[in-house]
Amino acid sequence: MEPTRFAIKAERIIDGTGRPPIERGVVLVDGERITAVGREIDVRVPKDVEVVDCGAQTLLPGFVDAHSHASIVLGDQIGQLRQPPAPQILRSVQNLRADLRSGVTTMRVVGEEHFIDVDLRETIAAGRLPGPRLLVATRPITARNGHGAALTFSDGEEEIRRHIRENVARGADLIKLFMTGGVSSKGTAARWYAYTPHEVQVAVDEAHRNNKPVAVHGHGGPGVAICIDAGVDTIEHGKLCDLEDFVAMRKRGTWLVTNHAVSGHPDGIEKGDARVPSIMAKLRESRETSRRTFRLVLESGVKWALGTDSMHGLMWWEIAQVVEWGADAHDAILAATRRAAEAIGMGDEAGSLEPGKLADVISVDGDPLDDVRCLERVGVIFQGGRRRDTLSLQ
Ligand SMILES: [Zn+2]
Repeated sequence: MEPTRFAIKAERIIDGTGRPPIERGVVLVDGERITAVGREIDVRVPKDVEVVDCGAQTLLPGFVDAHSHASIVLGDQIGQLRQPPAPQILRSVQNLRADLRSGVTTMRVVGEEHFIDVDLRETIAAGRLPGPRLLVATRPITARNGHGAALTFSDGEEEIRRHIRENVARGADLIKLFMTGGVSSKGTAARWYAYTPHEVQVAVDEAHRNNKPVAVHGHGGPGVAICIDAGVDTIEHGKLCDLEDFVAMRKRGTWLVTNHAVSGHPDGIEKGDARVPSIMAKLRESRETSRRTFRLVLESGVKWALGTDSMHGLMWWEIAQVVEWGADAHDAILAATRRAAEAIGMGDEAGSLEPGKLADVISVDGDPLDDVRCLERVGVIFQGGRRRDTLSLQ
């Protein structure tokens, strides 16, 4: 029998609550939950638990990737989504393994075709496939002429309602709607938008009546303002938003889920689509404005969280990038743990190391408040109280 009670010890714990690190700390795990967190001298460790001593490392909550996709790797994402299910599922198995290995224990999947994300979520939950615990959007709501249009299109009130209802019936945890253009599709400018205010309101009302949050692909321009007004829950990307947009989001309580490795990391769009001049031009514009826009995020006080958007295994890089752009390292870690969990509606279960929460615990080799890049060097991984770093995850 696999042991179910652990005492995980390390030089320090960053518990995801925002409190200062706990020096020489211990996390007690019983079954799938955390039962105690504190300094070793304050926590009584029962005799019959398995002790996992991480030495000079730092313990953190498992990362929560608030925006990614299971089947996609960079390069012609829409083409990948138009494939039959088998190649998509095969890529997903590899991608989700890489995500878990990098310390991501929970992930929100914001758009797949064929409902493969429902099957992946269930298979992972049953312990038959290594990967982050998933929340899934199933088929995105996107206009025929919109960004992200792969196999399923929703135009007008009737189709929007019908597809949201089908998604919910098939097991969607949230609804994803593509509002503005994007960086990775030809022909749709990032400020262009697909849906009328009425169509967006229909989508929000239908989703919320079914207790599903709405995540919107929105880079900037009037389309984002329409979505904030309609009461969507998260704006994804927001790379061309201005201060007014972020202030409006703060006032309304709308989350920003942002990501930068797709456009900033050398393995991102640059590698996949480097020969398509129209995409490269938009990518250059995106990089130049991303840094400036991120300053506005910090200035505005909007609630923000991080995702990798299919840059599997690069959650650490997302954190490092915003730290380079002026975010406080501890705050950036919270954007990838507790705040990301809150943004996706998992705040009561994941994102911090506190008694009663799911035992998602990782160790990293070093002190990330000293050198944030040590987040790349993940040691132990516990997910819901089960040890995952001992699985073959390569
Ligand atoms: Zn995405």
